[in-house]
Amino acid sequence: MRILVVEDEPKVGAALQDGLAQEGYESVLALTGEDGFFRLHEEGFDLVILDLMLPGRSGLEILRRMRKDGQDTPVLVLTARDTIEDRVIGLDAGADDYLVKPFAFEELVARVRALLRRGTPDEANLRVGALAMNRLTRSVTLSDDVVDLTLREFELLEVLMQHAGRVVSREMLARDVWKDTARATPLDNVIDVHVARLRRKIDGTTGVRHIQTVRGVGFVLRAESE
Ligand code: CA
Repeated sequence: MRILVVEDEPKVGAALQDGLAQEGYESVLALTGEDGFFRLHEEGFDLVILDLMLPGRSGLEILRRMRKDGQDTPVLVLTARDTIEDRVIGLDAGADDYLVKPFAFEELVARVRALLRRGTPDEANLRVGALAMNRLTRSVTLSDDVVDLTLREFELLEVLMQHAGRVVSREMLARDVWKDTARATPLDNVIDVHVARLRRKIDGTTGVRHIQTVRGVGFVLRAESE
């Protein structure tokens, strides 16, 4: 597994590399956005750890360009401030996950492992814990019991399952499920109502919470065991 670390603070970059090496991950450090950008185009990586605050070419520019070019390498974004805007912008630009500085190294390693574990998804079948979806037959089962969903609930769950373990912003749901980008705020209630219905159908009275709310940002679907 080869990881590209784009971080302009040499001490932080070196610490990240040391820590990753201890976990058995080979990494390459790019100290500028330019360097990171060119390495991404010339070498293959399994994961990118990307600081957003870089002099010159910013992390967001690199991320947007990667996704525009169709590069689907998982990206873990590092943000300096814990602002909702930063997180939403990063996720909407195509980040798979984010960490707010300063962070515990164990947390970084856990995120890195989760992102590398995802691998290549099966086009037709999605599975998260006991939850299984067949996108061809549009059927959903939970521990082999059929879950009856409306078309909208199905599409909502589909997006959450595709991004399982990662935060899906309300903006992403508005765009991908409601095909609506213009009126993000008025849609919030509609999204909440549908998420609440979906929660009732999936988790019911089991006490398990598959869909968790990330306050001010959106939702994350996790397997019950995580
Ligand atoms: Ca920085």
